[in-house]
Amino acid sequence: MSIARTSHVDPLRESAQYVKGVGPARFELLKRLGLETVGDLLFHFPRAYEDLSDCRRIADLTEGTLQTVAGEVVEIEGRSTRTGKELLSVVLSDGSGVLEGAWFNQSFMARRFRYGQRVAFSGKPQWYRDRWQMNNPRVQLLGDEAIQPGSGKVLPVYPLTEGLHIEQMRRIQRHVAEHYARLVPEALPPELLRKYGFPSAAEAVRDMHIPADLDAAQRARRRLVYEEFLVLQTALALRRRDVRETRKARPLPITQKIDEHIRRLFPFQLTRDQNRAIVQICKDMASDRPMQRLLQADVGAGKTAVAVYALLLAVAHQCQAALMAPTEVLARQHWRTLSAYLARSRVRKLLLTGGLKPRQRQAALGEIRMGQVDLVVGTQALIQEDVEFARLGLVVIDEQHRFGVAQRERFRKLGEDPHYLVMTATPIPRTVALTMFGDLDVSVIKELPPGRLPVVTRAVTEAKREKLYEHLGKELRKGRQLYVVCPLVDESETLDVKAAEQTFAELQAGPFKEFRVGLLHGRMDDAAKDSVMNRFREGQIQVLVCTTVVEVGVDVPNATLMMIEHADRFGLSQLHQLRGRVSRGPVAGECYLFAPTANEETRRRIRMFTRTRDGFALAEEDARERGSGQFFGTRQHGLGELKLGSAIADADLLGQARDDAFAIVAADPGLAQPAHAGLRRLVLERYGQTLELAEIG
Ligand code: ADP
Ligand code: MG
Repeated sequence: MSIARTSHVDPLRESAQYVKGVGPARFELLKRLGLETVGDLLFHFPRAYEDLSDCRRIADLTEGTLQTVAGEVVEIEGRSTRTGKELLSVVLSDGSGVLEGAWFNQSFMARRFRYGQRVAFSGKPQWYRDRWQMNNPRVQLLGDEAIQPGSGKVLPVYPLTEGLHIEQMRRIQRHVAEHYARLVPEALPPELLRKYGFPSAAEAVRDMHIPADLDAAQRARRRLVYEEFLVLQTALALRRRDVRETRKARPLPITQKIDEHIRRLFPFQLTRDQNRAIVQICKDMASDRPMQRLLQADVGAGKTAVAVYALLLAVAHQCQAALMAPTEVLARQHWRTLSAYLARSRVRKLLLTGGLKPRQRQAALGEIRMGQVDLVVGTQALIQEDVEFARLGLVVIDEQHRFGVAQRERFRKLGEDPHYLVMTATPIPRTVALTMFGDLDVSVIKELPPGRLPVVTRAVTEAKREKLYEHLGKELRKGRQLYVVCPLVDESETLDVKAAEQTFAELQAGPFKEFRVGLLHGRMDDAAKDSVMNRFREGQIQVLVCTTVVEVGVDVPNATLMMIEHADRFGLSQLHQLRGRVSRGPVAGECYLFAPTANEETRRRIRMFTRTRDGFALAEEDARERGSGQFFGTRQHGLGELKLGSAIADADLLGQARDDAFAIVAADPGLAQPAHAGLRRLVLERYGQTLELAEIG
């Protein structure tokens, strides 16, 4: 009979259409939620629970929380209120008191009740006139099953789609959980299950859908979150092991002579934080293992200088080095910065832009291939495509989030990897960094260079707009320059551009008509962007109306004023990045926010922003609000997309999972032990491709 068994389809892969209660029509709705198989349904977890477990006697009710009362119907009455609404009133008694359930304009509900029937109402009780009342309570008709105080239910709340009702979804999911959860294979090694006292995978999945109480749901969730972290961290540990132990890089040790030579090029003393990062980088680069380091710096803290140090160290060893920026504008800016530092040096450098003619490009690629160029600056897209280096020693990547682990593979060459330094201006909380780039070491620069003044940040009400224009006009006349950042509209670039064009037209015609106003947005071609940025840099443009293209890295020291429209639509980290633009020179920057919202939570965020200078604190707050995935905008990089866990809220589990994962991989690098079979399967399923985990594949 073994043949029959092995040829049998995995029940969790069967189509959801044939699950009891689904059928062809509802299957279409489920598909909209991405649910096609029984397994998909099982892992479509509730986003919350309605806790109907707080069952009380009517005499013990209190105001404010969700409570459930069971009793006998003693009164059913429909009447019209003075305001002309239909009121249905159903009164329960449980011997300790009476409770009125009230429904407005839902007289059809009356048909559900009859005198003497036992029912339960769940809702928030209010003391109204002389009795307890619940508006629109949830009703359970009680047959023989008695609801005793403390024995009520916890109902799952699922993400839904139009046309699919919560009750239908609950029925489907209850059925699936009851019949299929037991088939979910175990992924955690028995030892870890014991260590944490976790329920089995089967129990946990079942308890997510039909928990006995909130505690059971919570236990189930923690186990599944832990598992999610463990799988990710195991993948990262494997990858790290692969990189550390099997990959070779050229050692590029620092010497005193090289160090002095590089430092002479900087017009300033490096800060303590910069020096600490440099020591860490030098240690990495001296090794014959490729460096894998993330350099995090708060805006303006000076990471470019650190990157330049690393680039020149590579060049000092007759290696080539590449600096990759996320956008053309930034690539050009890095180019200018490098050119300034290297004005007195013989380093042969090259800027690879999208604007090159095919012939020029071919020539440039030839020089790189022949080793006639030491330093290449370009956008990531440009450098990755078809560039072949003669002796690539170091790659510096600005803004990691557009550059995943997989792309790093691109530069491997015949048994040798370059060293990697990844820079990010988005301060990433440590817990999130662990999730996203568990295989990178992290250096942090928090300290700002000396003499940098904090940006004065103020929220401005609409009533004060004219006054603000007057103030800005006065400052502009003194020779300062202004960014006007336009709101994000619906995350649609086209609409963002429209908003920017409109703001541009209004400001140019009205409040700033005596000044030269320019416009910069993402839809302009590179040449146009460049020309606008150049004119702004040279002071020909005084007011730059822009979308968030200035968000990262643009450096114009004389631009010390910023005005942000609809600041409520931006994340805190994003606002902080923007504000960083006006903290470049010796004059204190000023940043004004319009945030027209009545939402108290939004106002609190904006207030917090105006008072907080620490980019890391703001990033933590962002992550708490929006989940760690938001750090990277979209799902571009495929790693670290967590379904259940949050790197912030579940930081304790993340830390444990990370330690456990690294211990497992150290002891069993091939995940070959039977106890690791389940874990191995999930790791390969989720990350095998992205991380090229060949070793265990
Ligand atoms: P980041 O890229 O981290 O936002 P940058 O590297 O662009 O910061 O540096 C911001 C500004 O600070 C630049 O104008 C740079 O010349 C200057 N700067 C960097 N390091 C120092 C330092 N140690 N002392 C003084 N100025 C510095
Ligand atoms: Mg920079």
